Amino acid sequence: MTDLEHDVLAALGKVLSPDGSPLPATGKLSEIVASDGKVFLSITVDAGAVKAWEAVRERAEAAIRAVPSVKSVMVALTAERAPASSGAMARPQPAPGASRGPGARPGPAPGAPSAPSPSGIPGVAAIIAVASGKGGVGKSTTAVNLALGLRDLGLKVGILDADIYGPSLPKLLAIRERPQTIGGNRLKPIERYGMPVMSIGFLIEEETPMIWRGPMVMSALTQMLREVEWGTLDVMVVDMPPGTGDAQLTMAQQVPLKGAVIVSTPQDLALIDARRGIAMFRRVNVPVLGIVENMSTFICPHCGTRSDIFGHGGARHEAERLGVPFLGEVPLDIAIREKSDAGLPVVATAPDSPNAQIYRDIAARVRDGLQGASRPAPKIVIET
Ligand code: ADP
Repeated sequence: MTDLEHDVLAALGKVLSPDGSPLPATGKLSEIVASDGKVFLSITVDAGAVKAWEAVRERAEAAIRAVPSVKSVMVALTAERAPASSGAMARPQPAPGASRGPGARPGPAPGAPSAPSPSGIPGVAAIIAVASGKGGVGKSTTAVNLALGLRDLGLKVGILDADIYGPSLPKLLAIRERPQTIGGNRLKPIERYGMPVMSIGFLIEEETPMIWRGPMVMSALTQMLREVEWGTLDVMVVDMPPGTGDAQLTMAQQVPLKGAVIVSTPQDLALIDARRGIAMFRRVNVPVLGIVENMSTFICPHCGTRSDIFGHGGARHEAERLGVPFLGEVPLDIAIREKSDAGLPVVATAPDSPNAQIYRDIAARVRDGLQGASRPAPKIVIET
């Protein structure tokens, strides 16, 4: 904790909640984001209690503003409607009275890796994250086809789209319907290709301003993990938001992950981002199951010629250098893009294609990596 965060916490200790307890003792505070004199935090309360808490929020802001070296402050009230009371999808909402101070950063926390380790989800044997250092590298496409590849290996697989900034599973799996509630307060995931699917897109409205997405993400994520009838799963594949910022780090801390798969393109720049991703998971003690090099080689749809538009082999070398398994290379192939964007992932709809086989091979290495938690790291496979 920085000095500033420490001072802010001390100031908040003098602010009392509606039941008279000091604010930090209520368990309702997000972690404190404080940098360059700008302070941001959120208080998550029940929707019915927003009125009582608005005065607390104002007192909290005033107390933080009085801390020397604080230049701006934003304390957000985040209210959550329970699914039982809404009777349909519960959407975490920013409370009406919440302020929008300047300079506030989205995301609950830069998070020291000292958060308590999250408990597992009953019935789910392993949760793995598919992550990337930046957007647009094919993370979601990889997540979907990896999940299908694991399914083809005989595992029971579910997919959770946790990409707060651009949930894409509804598109990649052509999902237009909304999940139903069961028994008033639990959600039934959408079923696709034999896999239960949930997307954060079902919980956060598309128009939700980015600044709210960080504070909302944890309650939405908790709901998707714990209030959804996932059934019995061998593996849940989580499509993470791209990047290595606060929201991603918080998620990596809060979701009980067995491992992470990093997707990168071969360019150096993407690899620098991928390196940050690996460092982030290591920081929160989540094993990196390996790197997938996506858009590795371009295969011309007309003549079948291969060309290395983004270079080739960068991720493999990087994996070797960092001592993490290399999981495989997926070519830049128009067939993948067309099928993916039409909601027809290749592993499900072109199972005999070479691309589907590549994803199944990657899935097999991921499965081996998961099983080998107690064995030495999986061998790097050199394809000639
Ligand atoms: P991200 O989740 O990293 O933002 P997406 O999976 O949404 O990336 O992919 C971005 C775009 O690239 C999509 O249009 C997708 O169809 C396309 N794409 C992903 N992987 C490949 C590939 N190997 N070959 C061709 N197009 C791809």
